[in-house]
Amino acid sequence: MKKLIVGNWKMNMDTQGAKALAQTVAAGATGFVSAGRVDLAVCPVMIHIEGVVAGLKDFPVQALAVGAQDCSDQEDGAYTGQVSAAMLKDAGCSFVIVGHSERRQYNKESSALVAAKAAKALEAGLTPIICVGETLEQRDSGKEQDVVAYQLAHSIPAGASGYVVAYEPVWAIGTGKVASPEDVAKMHAFIRTQVGGDVLILYGGSMKPDNAKELLATPNVDGGLIGGASLKAEEFLAIASCV
Ligand code: PEP
Repeated sequence: MKKLIVGNWKMNMDTQGAKALAQTVAAGATGFVSAGRVDLAVCPVMIHIEGVVAGLKDFPVQALAVGAQDCSDQEDGAYTGQVSAAMLKDAGCSFVIVGHSERRQYNKESSALVAAKAAKALEAGLTPIICVGETLEQRDSGKEQDVVAYQLAHSIPAGASGYVVAYEPVWAIGTGKVASPEDVAKMHAFIRTQVGGDVLILYGGSMKPDNAKELLATPNVDGGLIGGASLKAEEFLAIASCV
């Protein structure tokens, strides 16, 4: 299966910075992408999407896809501050991250809401990247598989296909702590039993150039969702080159 490496830029940069980073990544990515081993995408903040898409218009269409970090579970109408999946598609997005642990934590998003967002994304022709993962407390009490099983069962729309899952242990996000390849292998093998063979399963959580090779070679790891290291073109490209 062709691997997928996605950068989650979170709430960083200004318009020009986002556009410039996307262009540097696209310029450096052409070699990997044309070798056909990996697809690359970046997810800027909503208001930078248009500028990033415009900045990529002179690159081959497959060099770097664009995604969003969230979408509404609603179609349109009186939902102040929200952006629909169809609007993201119209703006040039191919992907949307849903259920990131920062949104589950700070915005109290439930798995049911995540499933509704993922359903809207699929209807709009976007690929939702559905995030799941346990906290340190849940892992320490041996509940990580139960937590992930629950999140998968309730965050993936019934009967859906065409989505991506990102396993992101919450304690590994932005902390520099990485899940061991054994733990990643075990959890990804479990997720595989839940979602079947056609779904890409990404690992996310402090993936960096120095640990990416081992993580990306782990069975059932079909790519990465990269936070901090995606803000530097050379680090993001170094990770992609490990595929
Ligand atoms: C993320 O937020 O999705 C993530 C994986 O972040 P980091 O790579 O910084 O841990």
